[in-house]
Amino acid sequence: MVQITGATKLLGVMGYPIEHSLSPVMHNAALKALANQHAQDFLEYVYIPWSVTADALPTVVSSLGELGCRGFNITIPHKQAIIPLLAKTTSIAKTVGAVNTVWSTASGWAGTNTDVQGFLAPLQTMNRDWSTITPCILGCGGAARAVLAGCAQLGCPQVHIIGRQRPKLETLQAIGATSLSLEIHIHLWEDLINILPLAALLVNTTPVGMSPHPQASPLSAADIKQLPIDAVVYDLIYNPNPTRLLALTQASDRTAITGVEMLVQQGAAALSIWIDQPAPVDIMREALLACFT
Ligand code: NAP
Repeated sequence: MVQITGATKLLGVMGYPIEHSLSPVMHNAALKALANQHAQDFLEYVYIPWSVTADALPTVVSSLGELGCRGFNITIPHKQAIIPLLAKTTSIAKTVGAVNTVWSTASGWAGTNTDVQGFLAPLQTMNRDWSTITPCILGCGGAARAVLAGCAQLGCPQVHIIGRQRPKLETLQAIGATSLSLEIHIHLWEDLINILPLAALLVNTTPVGMSPHPQASPLSAADIKQLPIDAVVYDLIYNPNPTRLLALTQASDRTAITGVEMLVQQGAAALSIWIDQPAPVDIMREALLACFT
């Protein structure tokens, strides 16, 4: 546990429900390590989970300001509802249309979206020219927007998105054209089989395969064999780790990236904003992985 003193300042995460969140484990491990390394007051933080209903959100956010809270994460279902409560938002948050990280400034709360940075981090460590590939994204919800913004930052000129609802797909297609300079080709699931041979990067942003349904997978073993042999399959799901999709990917000798890494890296990006120094990424990863053993 982080030691709580009279000087301890608040960080936290609000969502509804919040009990499943792994962010407190990851952040408090980092804060404890930092407090052990440095004795300065400014590193005396504790990170708390807050269960907040939609009705209570405005009151809670304004009260946290009164309590001297340094910042907080926002998760489902408040990632959009928080935006009108902020004094300013970054351009990436505006593009994604969602905020997951908030911090206090002299003029009020500021918000950004570190999911894009989190998504990009493991891809940027790989020796690939992403600007020459056309990723395929499964699902068209909130996380897909962050992935699209990430694909634009990688320099991908176009992307395929597979979804269940054409109006949602068309909304993302419009965002790609207006905000991201990204040509988005939209497809219903029956087209998937035609896209797989082109998908050098396949990203699952659906919850298919997430706990408590670890036997589910958006792609079968036969589907995965249709991907290029050097394909990278990135599953945003972090529980279980690995998902069935990633286990099948590894069995087919293709490269798998787990959502644990995105979770760690988006958290590290948030923590570094709050404490104004680099976050201990390895400690955060270790704390998260320990939750799955
Ligand atoms: P969301 O907004 O609800 O979007 C989910 C998308 O998946 C929607 O497009 C939905 O389709 C589609 N979908 C749901 N069930 C499906 C099914 N059975 N078959 C086909 N498509 C299905 O959720 P989200 O916030 O984007 O999160 C999606 C996943 O990403 C979750 O597992 C979440 O834990 C994970 N995630 C991970 C991280 C990380 O840091 N690793 C960060 C963010 C999200 P409809 O549009 O038709 O409803």
